[in-house]
Amino acid sequence: MPSAPLSKVLDELRTASQQAGRPLPRLLAVSKTRPASDVAQLAAAGQLAFGENYVQEAIAKLAELTHLPLEWHLIGHLQTNKAREAARHFAWVQTVDRLKLVDALMKHRSADQPPLNLLIQVNIDDEDSKHGCQPEDIFALAEAISRHPNLKLRGLMAIPAPDPDTRVQAFDAMHRLFLDLQKHFADIDTLSMGMSDDAALAIAHGSTMVRVGRALFGERTVV
Ligand SMILES: *Cc1c(COP(=O)(O)O)cnc(C)c1O
Repeated sequence: MPSAPLSKVLDELRTASQQAGRPLPRLLAVSKTRPASDVAQLAAAGQLAFGENYVQEAIAKLAELTHLPLEWHLIGHLQTNKAREAARHFAWVQTVDRLKLVDALMKHRSADQPPLNLLIQVNIDDEDSKHGCQPEDIFALAEAISRHPNLKLRGLMAIPAPDPDTRVQAFDAMHRLFLDLQKHFADIDTLSMGMSDDAALAIAHGSTMVRVGRALFGERTVV
């Protein structure tokens, strides 16, 4: 079943990567606030990777969709007391920003599951209101993650402020941190940045995974 918004987004990603001379990024479809039926529809069109912000909402949704080979990413802030549920149900957690969370995820990822893929979230604009670690904390977190065989560090994630004056700087700073991490750790292949409004810009500045909600599903009524 074709999906017009999915084709359009994939075309835009292809165009942006060609124009920038960059590899095509992975597309993560952000399905927060959307019903399971919307996810199933996009899956029928070939999109299998989905991002959710809230653990409870995600678990309810993925329980309805166990018949589909979906890959679930947690992209919202994770409280330590939800780490057990997150470690069991997700394939990726993109919002690791503290050692306590690494330990909790390690403890709850069972040995009969594949390693849990992790991204370290960086508060690249140093916003007080935001989650994410400081750039200087990345290596300590990466080392902690690399000690656990049931966790697999894949790279970095950021949600830069939507301010056009600082966004390019933030993307470039993230790209430099990503290249530096790649030099020191194996398996680092993912720089998750760019959303519906700035995916093309993020690709031009080194993103390998864009997280797109509204451009695929339409405007959200609840955020
Ligand atoms: C909601 C959300 C997105 C998607 O944003 P859109 O503007 O709908 O594309 C991406 N990343 C995170 C962390 C989000 O919370």
